[in-house]
Amino acid sequence: MFTISNGIILKGNNLVPTKENIVVDDGKIIEIGKESKEGKIIDVDGAIVCPSFINGHIHIGDSIIKDEGYGLSLSEMVKPPNGVKHRALADASDDEMIEAMKSSMWEMVNSGTTHFIDYREGGIKGVELLKKASEDIPIKPIILGRDNSFYGDNPDLGKVKIAIRKILKIADGIAPSGFGEITDEVAQLISSQCAKAGKISSIHVAESEANQIESLNNFRISEIGKGVKNNFSQLVHITNPKANDLELLGKSNSNVVVCPRANATLNVGVAPLKKIIDLGIKPLLGTDNVMLNSPNMFRELEFTLKIMSVCYKSYINPLELLKMATTNICGFNINDIIQKSVIDTDNSAEFFVVKSFSKNPYLNICNRVETKNILYTINKKIDI
Ligand SMILES: [Zn+2]
Repeated sequence: MFTISNGIILKGNNLVPTKENIVVDDGKIIEIGKESKEGKIIDVDGAIVCPSFINGHIHIGDSIIKDEGYGLSLSEMVKPPNGVKHRALADASDDEMIEAMKSSMWEMVNSGTTHFIDYREGGIKGVELLKKASEDIPIKPIILGRDNSFYGDNPDLGKVKIAIRKILKIADGIAPSGFGEITDEVAQLISSQCAKAGKISSIHVAESEANQIESLNNFRISEIGKGVKNNFSQLVHITNPKANDLELLGKSNSNVVVCPRANATLNVGVAPLKKIIDLGIKPLLGTDNVMLNSPNMFRELEFTLKIMSVCYKSYINPLELLKMATTNICGFNINDIIQKSVIDTDNSAEFFVVKSFSKNPYLNICNRVETKNILYTINKKIDI
């Protein structure tokens, strides 16, 4: 048992700053109060206590080819099955994959992340490799698998269904790459089977303008429209919405993830984040392919803060931005499977303590803190 005392806690879903002590026992917050003190006392001298990060979207498998293919287009880089990424994954040995994934997970742990939602390639075996790689690391991977039977113009729906069921037995959900690679029938099967199993169905949508135009030309509906219509529980990117796409999303039950640094690296645009937030959508922030970006959420937060001002000439509220990396998932329907906690009594202790440089705790984290400024990281698997 220990007490983090003399810190500024970002409490609850809304990250309300309060000067209180937190008592932690056996991975759980058992008390928060101004006078609370039990066990070992850790005086953090005015530091900020922030809920741990969730990285809302990542492909940890391509940790094996960091910075390769820089300057190529989106499809040359990541489109299955011939993109740079997929050729490298096909050539890599299991040991290479495991070592590369381990190193990325440690980078996440050391920069305050306790949860990440991964699009895992390689079918059942791909899911198993990540599970094995994460065994001894204090982080929770939420693994979304896929299978090669999903692809093509005439997939065998019987085989697709069997593959989905097999993956769902060991994974947290299913995530094909995009609507360009699968038929409507496969999309429907994925989302309905995931819903039935209480798991996550996720897909990339509107990452590039070209994807959106292709979808409109071929199906008279945008990729975002397709994602909502097919009831995917999580839509990733939303970089190039059309007409009423955002309004549609606002009324849907889909969780949204944006990845500004990955979009910038691939020259595909900037998601209209201020408009997304103004519509009441609670997006998550993701660092996307490790081949493109380090999986460090501090870097994503600062980049996002600044790029929004550059592109839209208006500010994004730093509190809303920090919620995208911490608590926006809490209370959302897919959090049942993710199980991410806010800082509050009786919740799991999942937070980090960082040096305070300014009087604005949100800008302190989004604009100033670096990994080396983390004083303590607390989660279920780490105790002091
Ligand atoms: Zn992605």
